Amino acid sequence: MSTMKFCRRCNNVLYPKEDKEQKLLLYACRNCNHEEIADNNIVYRNKIHHSVQRRTRELENVAADPTLPRTKSVRCSQCNHGEAVFFQAPVKGEEGMALIFVCCNPSCGNRWRD
Ligand SMILES: [Zn+2]
Ligand SMILES: [Zn+2]
Repeated sequence: MSTMKFCRRCNNVLYPKEDKEQKLLLYACRNCNHEEIADNNIVYRNKIHHSVQRRTRELENVAADPTLPRTKSVRCSQCNHGEAVFFQAPVKGEEGMALIFVCCNPSCGNRWRD
Protein backbone atom coordinates (compact mmCIF):
# COMPACT_ATOMS: atom_id res chain seq x y z
CA MET A 1 0.00 0.00 0.00
CA SER A 2 1.03 3.58 -0.51
CA THR A 3 1.68 5.73 2.52
CA MET A 4 -1.40 6.65 4.50
CA LYS A 5 -2.18 10.18 5.47
CA PHE A 6 -3.84 11.20 8.68
CA CYS A 7 -6.14 14.07 9.55
CA ARG A 8 -4.28 16.79 11.41
CA ARG A 9 -7.45 17.69 13.30
CA CYS A 10 -8.72 14.33 14.54
CA ASN A 11 -6.02 11.88 13.43
CA ASN A 12 -8.35 9.64 11.43
CA VAL A 13 -7.25 8.18 8.09
CA LEU A 14 -7.57 10.55 5.13
CA TYR A 15 -9.04 9.17 1.92
CA PRO A 16 -8.13 10.37 -1.57
CA LYS A 17 -10.90 12.37 -3.16
CA GLU A 18 -11.09 13.92 -6.60
CA ASP A 19 -12.18 17.54 -7.03
CA LYS A 20 -13.53 17.27 -10.56
CA GLU A 21 -14.12 21.00 -11.01
CA GLN A 22 -10.59 22.04 -10.13
CA LYS A 23 -9.00 18.77 -11.30
CA LEU A 24 -7.27 18.39 -7.97
CA LEU A 25 -6.63 15.42 -5.78
CA LEU A 26 -7.67 16.05 -2.21
CA TYR A 27 -7.38 14.03 0.93
CA ALA A 28 -10.58 14.08 2.91
CA CYS A 29 -11.35 13.02 6.46
CA ARG A 30 -14.59 11.09 6.88
CA ASN A 31 -14.76 11.94 10.53
CA CYS A 32 -14.55 15.74 10.65
CA ASN A 33 -14.75 16.76 6.95
CA HIS A 34 -11.22 18.19 6.99
CA GLU A 35 -9.77 18.31 3.47
CA GLU A 36 -6.29 19.02 2.19
CA ILE A 37 -4.75 19.18 -1.26
CA ALA A 38 -2.45 16.25 -2.05
CA ASP A 39 1.16 17.42 -2.22
CA ASN A 40 1.92 15.40 -5.34
CA ASN A 41 -0.06 13.88 -8.18
CA ILE A 42 1.35 10.36 -8.07
CA VAL A 43 -1.73 9.01 -6.38
CA TYR A 44 -3.88 10.73 -8.96
CA ARG A 45 -2.18 8.86 -11.78
CA ASN A 46 -2.47 5.59 -9.90
CA LYS A 47 -6.15 6.18 -9.49
CA ILE A 48 -6.71 6.51 -13.22
CA HIS A 49 -5.02 3.15 -13.79
CA HIS A 50 -7.38 1.53 -11.34
CA SER A 51 -10.64 2.82 -12.73
CA VAL A 52 -12.57 -0.27 -11.65
CA GLN A 53 -11.39 0.11 -8.06
CA ARG A 54 -12.17 3.78 -8.26
CA ARG A 55 -15.78 3.06 -9.15
CA THR A 56 -16.11 0.80 -6.13
CA ARG A 57 -14.61 3.49 -3.95
CA GLU A 58 -17.09 6.06 -5.21
CA LEU A 59 -19.96 3.76 -4.28
CA GLU A 60 -18.48 3.32 -0.82
CA ASN A 61 -18.12 7.08 -0.50
CA VAL A 62 -21.86 7.65 -0.67
CA ALA A 63 -21.94 7.75 3.11
CA ALA A 64 -19.31 10.52 3.10
CA ASP A 65 -21.05 12.62 0.45
CA PRO A 66 -21.77 15.98 2.12
CA THR A 67 -24.49 16.79 -0.44
CA LEU A 68 -26.73 13.92 0.69
CA PRO A 69 -29.18 14.35 3.53
CA ARG A 70 -28.51 12.33 6.66
CA THR A 71 -30.69 11.10 9.45
CA LYS A 72 -30.13 9.91 12.99
CA SER A 73 -33.60 8.42 13.32
CA VAL A 74 -32.55 5.05 11.84
CA ARG A 75 -30.34 2.22 13.07
CA CYS A 76 -28.18 0.00 10.89
CA SER A 77 -29.14 -3.67 11.19
CA GLN A 78 -25.57 -4.76 10.47
CA CYS A 79 -23.47 -2.64 12.86
CA ASN A 80 -26.07 -0.84 15.00
CA HIS A 81 -24.74 2.58 13.85
CA GLY A 82 -27.27 5.34 14.44
CA GLU A 83 -26.73 7.55 11.40
CA ALA A 84 -27.34 7.02 7.69
CA VAL A 85 -27.45 9.06 4.49
CA PHE A 86 -30.49 8.59 2.30
CA PHE A 87 -31.53 9.21 -1.27
CA GLN A 88 -34.22 8.19 -3.69
CA ALA A 89 -33.45 5.75 -6.48
CA PRO A 90 -35.50 3.95 -9.10
CA VAL A 91 -36.02 0.24 -8.48
CA LYS A 92 -35.98 -2.37 -11.21
CA GLY A 93 -39.38 -3.85 -11.92
CA GLU A 94 -41.19 -1.32 -9.75
CA GLU A 95 -42.87 1.97 -10.42
CA GLY A 96 -41.65 5.10 -8.73
CA MET A 97 -38.69 5.58 -6.46
CA ALA A 98 -37.51 3.81 -3.34
CA LEU A 99 -35.85 5.47 -0.38
CA ILE A 100 -32.37 3.97 0.05
CA PHE A 101 -30.43 4.33 3.30
CA VAL A 102 -26.64 3.89 3.51
CA CYS A 103 -25.00 3.35 6.90
CA CYS A 104 -22.56 6.17 7.81
CA ASN A 105 -20.14 3.81 9.53
CA PRO A 106 -17.18 3.89 7.06
CA SER A 107 -16.28 0.28 7.82
CA CYS A 108 -19.86 -0.92 7.27
CA GLY A 109 -21.55 0.75 4.28
CA ASN A 110 -24.69 -1.34 4.63
CA ARG A 111 -27.57 -0.31 2.37
CA TRP A 112 -31.22 -0.90 2.93
CA ARG A 113 -34.57 0.22 1.66
CA ASP A 114 -37.16 2.08 3.64
ZN1 LIG B 1 -10.59 14.66 10.79
ZN1 LIG C 1 -23.77 -0.19 9.48
